[in-house]
Amino acid sequence: MLRVSAADSRRRKRRLLLLISAIVVPSAVVILLVFRVVRQENELSERRSAEARREALDQLRRELSARLQAVRLEEVNRLIGESGRRLPPESAIVFVAPMMQDRMVLPWEDNRTAQTPAAEFAQMQSEGESLEFQRNDAAGAAAAYRRALKIAHTPSEKCSALLWLGRAYRRAGEALDADRADRATLHDCGAVPDNDGIPHALYAADRLLTKESNDAEAQDYIVHVASIRQWRTPNEAYMLQSLLRKISSPAAVEPLRRFSSEIHDIDLITGLAQNMEDHLGKLQRAFRSAPGDLSWMGYGDEPWLITIVSPTSFAAPVVMAVSSRKVVPEGVTLRLAGSPGAVPLGDGFLDLQAEWPASRFAVRQGMPFTLYGSVLFVVLGVVLLGGYLLLRDVHREAETVAMRSHFVASVSHELKTPLTSIRAHAETLLMGRADTPETTSEYLKTIMSESERLTRLVESVLDLSRIEQGRKSYRMQLTYLGEVVRSAAKTMEYPLSQLGFTLTISSDDTEPTLLADADALEQAILNLLGNAMKYSGGARRIEMRMGSAAREAFVDVVDHGIGITREEQTRIFEKFHRVQSAETQDIAGTGLGLALALHVVEAHQGRIDVVSAPGRGSTFSVRIPLPEQA
Ligand code: ADP
Repeated sequence: MLRVSAADSRRRKRRLLLLISAIVVPSAVVILLVFRVVRQENELSERRSAEARREALDQLRRELSARLQAVRLEEVNRLIGESGRRLPPESAIVFVAPMMQDRMVLPWEDNRTAQTPAAEFAQMQSEGESLEFQRNDAAGAAAAYRRALKIAHTPSEKCSALLWLGRAYRRAGEALDADRADRATLHDCGAVPDNDGIPHALYAADRLLTKESNDAEAQDYIVHVASIRQWRTPNEAYMLQSLLRKISSPAAVEPLRRFSSEIHDIDLITGLAQNMEDHLGKLQRAFRSAPGDLSWMGYGDEPWLITIVSPTSFAAPVVMAVSSRKVVPEGVTLRLAGSPGAVPLGDGFLDLQAEWPASRFAVRQGMPFTLYGSVLFVVLGVVLLGGYLLLRDVHREAETVAMRSHFVASVSHELKTPLTSIRAHAETLLMGRADTPETTSEYLKTIMSESERLTRLVESVLDLSRIEQGRKSYRMQLTYLGEVVRSAAKTMEYPLSQLGFTLTISSDDTEPTLLADADALEQAILNLLGNAMKYSGGARRIEMRMGSAAREAFVDVVDHGIGITREEQTRIFEKFHRVQSAETQDIAGTGLGLALALHVVEAHQGRIDVVSAPGRGSTFSVRIPLPEQA
């Protein structure tokens, strides 16, 4: 027992070792290799992507520098004198603003400032205002303003007086006169700004619209002014925007839309002028240290690219803003420093970064992963299958070895049982203890039957050895199936009757004749009959049916014993295989009977079918093709 368990544990260890070396190690190596290759591939594509990014950045820098240089050369000289006019929409330049004592002259700061009125005119103005606002004498005020209008010399005086006059008339209830004065202001004072830089005509338009919201003349004027592309003071821009909002005509929609971006730009520029140091400090310092080198800085949300240049060595330096959207090649976006995912543009571009769409330098992983995944899958599959087959073979081998040793034990036992019986009966006879002729004949029969059993056993062992050496031969001759079956039944008659079995033989009366080795066939049937007897459990009935059907002769051996499970039915024909169960453990056997029977039947081109269920008994059916002429 101890030896067996030691052998068992050795076998288990060997199998574990085999499992590790045949499956685990190769699989691990394959997986490791594939992972390594995939990682290298990824590193490579990451490196490639970084390289592509670097190249794209270099190219962008080159293109951008060239474009900006061209913009600067073309535009600066041409536009520097016309700071009030907005640049045409196709121009990449947003604005150009000269710097005076480190202060930026805003694009809308020009000579459109109101002139100081003459003393006499101012006198009339204050007289009128005092009448209008202190004494509440609108008619008196109107008279004073009329006098002021008469003595007005400059357009600014004239337009102011007209505007006041319109107001005073309206207060005095002179609607017609008020309208006339306002319309005159609307016509003549479009180009004359007041102290806030707002043209007088705009106030007049406002008044006319307040009175009559559909006033066509006022509406046309406002839409016309709004569509002129020029820099406006923030005050004028906001006022125009609120006037455009009052207009219900569709003509105002487009100017209104443009205005919100214009006001946005104005606010940005105002912010820049107010906090030059904050926004452009680095740029100013760079300019001061090397006025000849062109540096660009980002500003605003677009962002604009801003630089400081000296158009000529005598002129004041100029702040120039360029729209990045118009100079940057397609697919690239410029960002201010600090944007996640963007790449610094580097020399000449202070705090500016470039950004490409995420897909442009995406590391391509999809292809290698699926490819190596499938390779891994296939190789692992092959390794696992190979390992499984190897293990199965080894397992079978081990099983056969175990069965062989079990076989030796079984054969010795099988030999001993009949020998003991033969010896006991012979001794009894010798000592003359069998007193009646019946007993003597009984004893002799037992000795005969046990000798036959011994012969069969030895025959089967010899057969096995002949089969294994390929020496087993069959002598085929015409044979009556009925004779073979009856001879087998006769051989088993005595042992069967000893154990109380009844054997019934039925035939379909076809009495088939076979081309067969009668002895071998009888041996095969004997093996089936012997099994029916051994594995009958408590049942004591065995049937044999014979005949022919579908050009085959058949012999069925039917028992009502312990039966065989479906899984075991496929294995019982293997040599040495015996079903291991509580019901079979005490039944002697070698595991050879069915293997030999099958060999014989197959040598006759036949087959053995089994129909069985545990507890219900089994039917073993030998089927052999009939010879042509029969
Ligand atoms: P043995 O009978 O010597 O063990 P066999 O090759 O004749 O060897 O049979 C193989 C196994 O098949 C038997 O051990 C038994 O478990 C099973 N077997 C064979 N015939 C029957 C049967 N008629 N009923 C139940 N089990 C059977």
